[in-house]
Amino acid sequence: MNRTSRETQEHLFALAGNPNCGKTTLFNAITGARQHVGNYPGITVEKKEGLYALNGRQIRLVDLPGTYSLTAYSLEELVARDFLVHERPEVVINIVDASNLDRNLYLTLQLLELGVPVVVALNMIDVAEGRGVRINAEELSKRLGVPVVPTVARRGEGKDAVIQAAVDVARSGIRWQPLRISYGPDVDPVLVDMEKIIESSGFLTDLYPARWTALKYLEEDEQVKKKGRERNPEVSDRLEAMAAKVTEHIQKTLDSYPEAIIADHRYGFIAALLKDGVLEQRFKGNRLHLSDQIDRVLTNRFFGPIVMVAVLYGVYEITFTYSELPVQWFEAAFAALGRWAEGILPEGPLRSLVVSGIIDGVGGVMGFVPLIFFMFLAIAFLEDTGYLARAAYMLDRVFRIFGLHGNSFMAFIISGGIAGGCAVPGVMATRTLRTSRERLATLLTAPFMNCGAKVPVLAMLIAAFFTENRAQMLFLLTLLAWIFALVLAKVIRLTILRGPSSPFLLELPPYRIPTFKGLMIHTWERIWQYVRKAGTIIVAISILLWALMTYPGLAPEEKNRFEAARRSVIEALSPDDRAVLETPGSGTASVLEARRRLQAIAREEATAALRASFAGRIGTALEKVTRWCGFDWRTNVALVGGFAAKEVIISTLGTAYSLGELDGDDSTTLSQRLRQDPHWNPLVAFAAMVFIMLYSPCFVTVTCIIKESGSWKWGVFSMAFNTTVAFLAATAVYQGGRLLGLG
Ligand code: GDP
Ligand code: MG
Repeated sequence: MNRTSRETQEHLFALAGNPNCGKTTLFNAITGARQHVGNYPGITVEKKEGLYALNGRQIRLVDLPGTYSLTAYSLEELVARDFLVHERPEVVINIVDASNLDRNLYLTLQLLELGVPVVVALNMIDVAEGRGVRINAEELSKRLGVPVVPTVARRGEGKDAVIQAAVDVARSGIRWQPLRISYGPDVDPVLVDMEKIIESSGFLTDLYPARWTALKYLEEDEQVKKKGRERNPEVSDRLEAMAAKVTEHIQKTLDSYPEAIIADHRYGFIAALLKDGVLEQRFKGNRLHLSDQIDRVLTNRFFGPIVMVAVLYGVYEITFTYSELPVQWFEAAFAALGRWAEGILPEGPLRSLVVSGIIDGVGGVMGFVPLIFFMFLAIAFLEDTGYLARAAYMLDRVFRIFGLHGNSFMAFIISGGIAGGCAVPGVMATRTLRTSRERLATLLTAPFMNCGAKVPVLAMLIAAFFTENRAQMLFLLTLLAWIFALVLAKVIRLTILRGPSSPFLLELPPYRIPTFKGLMIHTWERIWQYVRKAGTIIVAISILLWALMTYPGLAPEEKNRFEAARRSVIEALSPDDRAVLETPGSGTASVLEARRRLQAIAREEATAALRASFAGRIGTALEKVTRWCGFDWRTNVALVGGFAAKEVIISTLGTAYSLGELDGDDSTTLSQRLRQDPHWNPLVAFAAMVFIMLYSPCFVTVTCIIKESGSWKWGVFSMAFNTTVAFLAATAVYQGGRLLGLG
């Protein structure tokens, strides 16, 4: 590394830009005759250096070879990039041709991704203006987060301002800070994993930012891979294997390559950067790309939001209409399985474990697979076409009001912003956010969204109490989730995470027609994630909860009391009646009456046993508090179980109610059982839905929040904060509803 420049109080700046952007012209205008032309060591690429004095300070200026990119495609690109990482100039003056802005900004993005401090010289504005292009340099500077100085190099205009801006940046002592761009749902998660490996092993971190190295592995950059293999072959192999896996996946799902996807997202980022007031084209030709033409409608100020609401609502209609029948099949299949198990297993704890613990638990979760399938299919379609990115773009303005960022939208959507999804990848998606305050605020509020695990619970309650307005109800709950998330984000950004918003960071990838195969693979991956979770954690927890609800059981004297009550009913019968008591469908009026009373005793006993169980005790203890929002101990037990995973709420309620109702026809769905239960009514159900929507994220999400925020305190905070908010909101609903005479 070259340190002499700093010791002698010199500044070292570099000039970078595309070929023919006016780099040499600007270099000459600044340095005049004080230049030195040589070669970069060992190669034929010309190296020009010049000196410039400003207020007694020497500035050494290096004219880098002209490049379109910082990949390793050409010698020029390699030279430029090696100079940046090895010589570490304090500032790179990036000359961009204003008459060809989007193409030139491609290099700018890569400089920013590398992290080097940048000053943009917006050159050839005379040419741009002649073509009717006007650029708002101030807004562009705000969005890029770096100074942007308009210049006309040929007339020497703006050269002093450029140098001054660069000196200011150098003096401000700014450090290398890499820009993070989102590369979409296929690439982002892998980048994050690769970054972790790179950071933890210090792999090439003296040269490149971790994300940059990861990107180079995905882009198949031979130079970086070679360096990596020399330094640490083991880590390099791991990264190459990960890159190969993504490549295969992207080929299968998108029929494309990581390099192309990465370039698409960079151009998408630039397209968004230049929209709305940055670039104005006064006499438009008819050379708009198809994507631009579509965008003129879909992101139009007036039509855009209307289309967006219509699209989101369409997702609900499709999900509910198409999934209705398969859901019924699933439910019937598991009910039949339960009856079959009941028939072949002897009465006792094993039968109870299999029927109430396992089959009910898994059935409750699996019954909603069709619903989630259609939901994910719709989301995958929106994602793969590029429409979701447009929605993020349109919402950026709104998100800023709440102290968030357009990219927070992605985290919210992935977490379940269009009901469905999962807060775990949602929390991870916050990595594309630039400042830690916006990132934390998103991290903490994204779990309010209705994830794929909450949806079945909500859908079950909706099916029980709001049959007439299913789609509208879920739409309302989604709206509420957004309102809570945004308002609470604002509260968090005004209190514990106070501070300014980050600069612009959005992208508009070109529209694509998704392939059927790609959609299916994306949907299948998510369904599989859900089912795998159901197959492992959920079953384990379902069994644990079954044990909690079964043991320690009733005390002997209590048992005897029920036994005595049963005996007295039987003894009151004549011997003839007693003989037919066990034969269903026969007997006199007194036999029917005895049967009814025996069933009532059995129900009472089961309920008493559940209440005496460990879970019952916890739920009962919580009743003192949850009385305020209308929940009894059974709901409480289910909510406690829901911390393990939200789907467990259904299986727990299912288990709780089937244990409490031994004579129940097993094909009766949980919805019907709740509807028949006197404790439940639409008001209680609504309060419960609000609570379920808002309370503590499941423990997997909490673990991720801890990992992503780097502190267990945020995990604890999120559990306590969300549960408090949920309790207050549910209480407000319940008490408010009672005041209005609704419950
Ligand atoms: P380089 O390849 O980036 O070094 O570009 P040059 O400095 O060689 O410039 C390429 C051409 O653009 C030359 O003919 C310059 O005179 C011209 N040029 C440079 N800057 C400007 C400018 O601001 N306005 C106009 N109209 N022409 C410019
Ligand atoms: Mg030149």
